[in-house]
Amino acid sequence: MVSKTESGESKLKGLSGAVDRLLGEVDSGVAHVLDRALAGEDISVEEGTSLLEAQGSANMNAIVLAADDLRRRTVGDVVTYIINRNINFTNVCIKHCTFCAFSRSHREEEAYYLPVEEIVRRAREAWELGATEVCIQAGLPPKMKGDYYLELTRAIKKELPEIHIHGFSPEEVLYGAIRSRCTIREYLVGLKDAGVGTLPGTSAEVLDQEVRDLISPGRITKDQWVEVVTTAHELGIRTTSTIMYGHVESARHVAAHLGLLRDIQKQTGGFTEFVPLGFVHTEAPMYGKSLVENVRPGATGAEVLKTYAVSRLMLNNWIPNLQVSWVKEGPKLSQILLNAGGNDFMGTLMNESISTSAGATYGQCMKPREMRRLIRDAGRIPAERTTTYGIRRQFGPEEDDHHDPLDLIEGEAEETFGSYARLSHSPDYKFRDRYEIPLTPVSKG
Ligand code: SF4
Repeated sequence: MVSKTESGESKLKGLSGAVDRLLGEVDSGVAHVLDRALAGEDISVEEGTSLLEAQGSANMNAIVLAADDLRRRTVGDVVTYIINRNINFTNVCIKHCTFCAFSRSHREEEAYYLPVEEIVRRAREAWELGATEVCIQAGLPPKMKGDYYLELTRAIKKELPEIHIHGFSPEEVLYGAIRSRCTIREYLVGLKDAGVGTLPGTSAEVLDQEVRDLISPGRITKDQWVEVVTTAHELGIRTTSTIMYGHVESARHVAAHLGLLRDIQKQTGGFTEFVPLGFVHTEAPMYGKSLVENVRPGATGAEVLKTYAVSRLMLNNWIPNLQVSWVKEGPKLSQILLNAGGNDFMGTLMNESISTSAGATYGQCMKPREMRRLIRDAGRIPAERTTTYGIRRQFGPEEDDHHDPLDLIEGEAEETFGSYARLSHSPDYKFRDRYEIPLTPVSKG
């Protein structure tokens, strides 16, 4: 689509002269990389870096157009979403990642813990409203029983055998293995046997050890993260993949992260999707308390667009699903990101605590009908999917739409599902009242 003329100018083939003139301003180096990507080649980390560093609106527009073209040719115009519920069952955590505004020490007033029966109740409520997946992630409570995640999984599966459990980040898998004194592989086998379907590929942040040591010392290392996901893939447990960007990382870090994920995918084929997650700075200690030098207050709009577009351009041949995050970027920018390589609109969530606690203001739940409205208005075709991207239902024009059970709940979703603020202030779920260290449920009758 983008080509270089003999004079070194770039142009869009077959489009109007006005667009040609616009593309004439694209740097020849950028045009060359886009040509390679559009020809179906894998662009290198160096080339990805050069796209992320490219300045000016003509370069940005060309990068976004190329990503959109590649998306259309690879996955077509369908935009998927999932009906799911997040259950962040505790904010108590032994780690101190400086970007995290969610975690609390077990003695703090706002430290909460949902008992197993409440987690199961929430899963059942979601299932009855049409959810096919629960996403279970939380802090790392001190001295947790090693097989706690297995017990929790079994309890949900006993009640709801068909629900898909998308649960336990690589950090949690590592913690479970350490607490159980077993290997990562043994722990993953245990999770799979208990009924975990897929793992969230969170706790990746930026897969560069120097960056990790700066923003989250003591967190799962890059090598451990890679070990957990590749072992999971070997065992037939697929995972998502993510990046958290917009803080201290450079363009080179982002491109190298994408290159590493691509290499893993070539080896295992186990990633279902890639999700760029913009850093939410508002309440993050590393920004507010200046714990880390030179932290940016999140990505700018242009940076978000380029990050999505370059993700599509680098990963397209290997990870075709690129998810837009309405929780981080808001529904309106997320809709625009569908034109920058995105083909998935994430999930309904019903509850969200981690981004909300960091200061994200886009709510905790998006109803399916609203997702379909945004997708259609971007000129695309909505479809509900399973966790592993099987299509459950593809939708036609708006006049043929219907209401899902989740669309029919009245008032704000918060009134039905509760909110992070209520959870962290509720006397019902105070960690210090309900649990003892080492972690053992205290019967409250
Ligand atoms: S990011 Fe996760 S591991 Fe790190 S402090 Fe927050 S809850 Fe704990």
